[in-house]
Amino acid sequence: MAWKSKSSRTVPLPKDWWRLRAKRLKMDGHRCVRIREDTGQRCMEKATDVNHIGSPHDHRIEMLESLCSWHHNQETGRQGGSRVRQAKKSVSHPGLAGG
Ligand SMILES: [Zn+2]
Repeated sequence: MAWKSKSSRTVPLPKDWWRLRAKRLKMDGHRCVRIREDTGQRCMEKATDVNHIGSPHDHRIEMLESLCSWHHNQETGRQGGSRVRQAKKSVSHPGLAGG
């Protein structure tokens, strides 16, 4: 099955997330606010997602930003996936030598 790896973020969104999201989008004119590295100018693509600038728990309106799908992918890619959790550190149990 082709699961989209979308559920990697487990932080629950607040009940009024849709409201915050809509407000942020409106404030940003429904345009991506990121600065493009290649042009040095604001991206201005159609914003399809609202991202947390700081902690994913921080839902203040000023801590949100509107992103186009491309920039949002950049974000989620960075947080989510490439680096799969390292196999557990070899924690040695001093008293528990197997027997
Ligand atoms: Zn963008």
